[in-house]
Amino acid sequence: MTIRGKCHCGNISFALTWDPDPVEIPARACDCSFCVKHGGVWTSNPNGALRVLVKDPALVSIYAFGTKTADFHVCTRCGIVPVVTSRLDGRLYAVVSVNAFEDVEPSRLRRTAASFEGEVEDSRLARRKRNWIPNVEFSQGV
Ligand SMILES: [Zn+2]
Repeated sequence: MTIRGKCHCGNISFALTWDPDPVEIPARACDCSFCVKHGGVWTSNPNGALRVLVKDPALVSIYAFGTKTADFHVCTRCGIVPVVTSRLDGRLYAVVSVNAFEDVEPSRLRRTAASFEGEVEDSRLARRKRNWIPNVEFSQGV
């Protein structure tokens, strides 16, 4: 299936291909200090492919904190964070926000709490390589 999502104003949108169709989609409520403040709930498929379209890059703020190994892509017009990326060994990995989904039955989401605080950086990056979407492309324009 292709899961579509976007920020509230539509400046940042994405299409995530997920084959075969998932019976359920993991939805991890992250307990890091930033995600607690904005309600970040993320999913990824290590076999998926993600296409992100940014209409106006001037309206995207990249926010990084802590280990500064993950970039939160914040739409500065509407404040939504649809995607997070991390560059590991030259490859771009990503997770997407289930809160930005447009066309997914909420009953399909398997919500869990996720705690990565206290994880050392090496194991954090190794986990991203295992679990995050490894095939990510950004494009710009209308
Ligand atoms: Zn927006």
